[in-house]
Amino acid sequence: MPAKVATIVRTLMHCIDGRFVPSSSGDSLEDVAPATGQVIARVPRGNAADVGLAVAAARSALSSGWGSASVAQRADLLEAVATRIEARLDELAALEALDTGKPVQLARKVDIPRAIANFRFFAGAVRHDETACHTMERALNYTLRRPLGVVGLITPWNLPLYLLTWKTAPALAMGNAVVAKPSELTPLTANALAEIFVEVGAPAGVFNLVHGLGAEAGDALVTHPDVAGISFTGGTRTGAHVATAAAPLFKKVSLELGGKNPTLVFDDCDFTAAVEGAVRAGFTNQGQVCLSGSRVLVQRGIHDRFVAAVVSRVQQMRIGDPMQPETELGALVSLAHRDKVEGYLRLASEEGGKVTGGARPQLAPPLDRGAFLAPAVITGLPHTSRSVQEEIFGPVVSIHAFEDENEAVSLANAVRYGLAASIWTRDLTRAHRVSARLDSGMVWVNTWMLRDLRVPFGGMKDSGVGREGGRWSLDFFSEVRNVCIQLEP
Ligand code: NDP
Repeated sequence: MPAKVATIVRTLMHCIDGRFVPSSSGDSLEDVAPATGQVIARVPRGNAADVGLAVAAARSALSSGWGSASVAQRADLLEAVATRIEARLDELAALEALDTGKPVQLARKVDIPRAIANFRFFAGAVRHDETACHTMERALNYTLRRPLGVVGLITPWNLPLYLLTWKTAPALAMGNAVVAKPSELTPLTANALAEIFVEVGAPAGVFNLVHGLGAEAGDALVTHPDVAGISFTGGTRTGAHVATAAAPLFKKVSLELGGKNPTLVFDDCDFTAAVEGAVRAGFTNQGQVCLSGSRVLVQRGIHDRFVAAVVSRVQQMRIGDPMQPETELGALVSLAHRDKVEGYLRLASEEGGKVTGGARPQLAPPLDRGAFLAPAVITGLPHTSRSVQEEIFGPVVSIHAFEDENEAVSLANAVRYGLAASIWTRDLTRAHRVSARLDSGMVWVNTWMLRDLRVPFGGMKDSGVGREGGRWSLDFFSEVRNVCIQLEP
């Protein structure tokens, strides 16, 4: 049974130097449950003064011991946090569902287990980390890593704890101190993570949390002179702003941005698996995943049958109360975001597309005030239309026909984004060939979102700069130094 979380109005605080403190301005924001419209928390509206206190606490943690903590001490802390998240799994899954509107079953199966795995994985990775040694005839070079110092972590609302822990774990594994700024739309599990750091006895100031708006707390973090690196996951436009603000300060920046990811379905695929895969890629988390397969490209011979099968499957999806275990689609993150998605559905019709689905479902109170939207499938759109080119980030896929491999690749690459792609075919030679030609940081063949935490994660073109995951995360969160020793004159 999923845990129940009380629908009380919580009062959240920042976590600075191991203590929960209100915003220095006294201002707060309201956190609303998107499934019901109820206010569930008051969130401190962090500003530059709060960020300044958090950065100072992080610096002080580094100088008073954390900066010289051993690998074993750092890995032990990560494992303790993982164990505590595991103990609170049901509660955290319920909080995530309440805050984001996502089905609690998804949070139980994906979001929270992944948060646990992130801490366990990076504890293991840092314990087993190796650095390079390059020998010369009469000299040798060896490579040292040291932490960047204070790092800022800025995360979005779609996978709140999953993405925050994906950054926090490697940052701490490499010996940095963290100031995190979660999306103000979904602050509950970030707050719980701060509680967990206190519960497990983490040194004060190693993990600091500042709530608030991106343009205020987020911007103050990006521009703070004592923050050496920023790992940002969010929209492409915000990412450009972050990159511009950080550049003159020569901060290290990692940007994981948006996507408009193609699902390429060839006529020799396992038809049933491809339909299920395309639906999963398009609608998991109400389509609010950077990796969502929002453009489905299908070979002409099976196109019409494929569209019919996807529409039929999508129309059976159970939409409703995120807290019910049988729910497949919950609410979008906010009413404002639903308005944006509906705007794209109107645009798609104006651009000549046929939209199937996409209405507001009739749900009983209090869900009638929630940000629900039935899944939509669009056909007949030219690839140049805005609704095919722009990231909608909702339960919407467009389906397009292609004749052959060349056309499939050229349509797949015909957007500004380059995050992920999936290919459905039984011909593995073709899968290799097409994978190599796609503008994409990640390609899945006959699957989607199958993740090994050791592999590089990230995108090209407007989908971001840099890679995280495995040693790429360890590299990002550390400064590498080469030492060259002359052995003989
Ligand atoms: P936003 O870009 O709006 O926000 C992301 C984070 O940045 C939030 O914490 C936000 O705070 C903060 N922020 C906003 N403005 C600034 C600023 N000026 N300076 C510093 N920080 C700022 O994205 P969304 O939250 O809307 O998330 C959806 C986007 O994230 C989608 O485009 C999606 O594709 C992308 N994404 C990418 C992933 C990837 O790995 N590539 C994974 C998941 C999502 P606030 O919320 O308070 O505005």
